[in-house]
Amino acid sequence: MNTKLTADQAFVRETNLSLVLRLIHSQAPISRAQVALMTGLNKSTVSSLVDELLAKNLVHEIGNNIGGAGRPAMMLEVNAQAGNVIGAELGVDFVSVAVTDFMGNILWRKREEADTNVNQVKMINQTLQIVKEAIKFGKKKNQRTLGLGLTTPGTVNINEGVLIFAPNLHWRNVPFGKIFAEQTKLPVYVENDANAAAVAEHLFGTARQVQDFLFVFSGVGIGGGLFLNGKLYRGKNGYAGEIGHFPIMAEPYQTVCHCGNRGCWETYANQYSIIQRVQARLEVKRSSIIPKLMAEQNSGLTIPLIKQAADAGDKEAIDSFAEAGLAMGQGFAGLINIFNPKKMILGGPLSIAGEYLLPNIIQAVKRHSMPEISQQAEIVLSKFGPDASLIGAIAIVVDDALTRFIHFGKK
Ligand SMILES: [Zn+2]
Repeated sequence: MNTKLTADQAFVRETNLSLVLRLIHSQAPISRAQVALMTGLNKSTVSSLVDELLAKNLVHEIGNNIGGAGRPAMMLEVNAQAGNVIGAELGVDFVSVAVTDFMGNILWRKREEADTNVNQVKMINQTLQIVKEAIKFGKKKNQRTLGLGLTTPGTVNINEGVLIFAPNLHWRNVPFGKIFAEQTKLPVYVENDANAAAVAEHLFGTARQVQDFLFVFSGVGIGGGLFLNGKLYRGKNGYAGEIGHFPIMAEPYQTVCHCGNRGCWETYANQYSIIQRVQARLEVKRSSIIPKLMAEQNSGLTIPLIKQAADAGDKEAIDSFAEAGLAMGQGFAGLINIFNPKKMILGGPLSIAGEYLLPNIIQAVKRHSMPEISQQAEIVLSKFGPDASLIGAIAIVVDDALTRFIHFGKK
């Protein structure tokens, strides 16, 4: 048989392989007949494409569907063992690395605190050391490693793998892609933390099959991943989604934002604003268990500690979260009015206090958005909570692997 394909035929074949693989990924378990129906490809084409995916170990058969009417059909799903993926999240004050299977299930992970004031080279080296441990783990599992995803706060040029500007890190023009590719010999993908988290939510989380949703990444800053019309919206230069720097109203907790401006939304609703709200309450000597917790744990005022106080019923902690939740909700309302999303998803470090923030976010959204639009928007917590961007780093590699098959060339 002549197996040589023309360039056009090869392109069509790869496009169709990707189409079928993505469909199996999002709809599994699914039969060949259902794939044909949903893609519009004819049955023999689907059969041949599925054979190729089976041969590459990307999908596998998981038995007959005996529940439905008609002849039982062999069902397909994506093979979680298709390869390992390494993800690294470079946060403002921590570094987190994980190895997952192809379906985003965590097999190994490590997290280290990082000092925001350490120099760039030191923090990159710290990350590199943990990534090398991850690679070693992957080799022990004797599986191909498909790539390394790296997420960071700030604007990113994804084609060059360069962090353009991270206000909260005070970093500019860092060529992460080049540095990590040279050191690891892996395909490296660099992406903004919130954008990556949105892709993760679409591939593995609460937004599977959702075509219009916004991911709100909350922590030291607030970033947005705008997933519109079934894909990530990047804007002209790829910097879209800097929702935290949307200028809004003045109120007593106004501070200068790390971007240099005043009145940015994130300064009312980020991690630091919550700490400030608690500090202001403690200064007027309201009764609170927070000072006692800090002394017992020899700890500064942190979000996990405030959350612990809230869990114990501390009014000052609960009220501080509530206030920040209302401020967060005001931004959510504006975004809902503009984008009419099906879902608004809150993730990132602050989502550990989601149970205190969410009811207030919802209340503010009711107050500040157009009812016809907001009634349709579901406001939920990320499936991955504070790990949203770490799983995002995994997701950007998997997303590319579902489109291009260069990853599966070698074992
Ligand atoms: Zn700002």
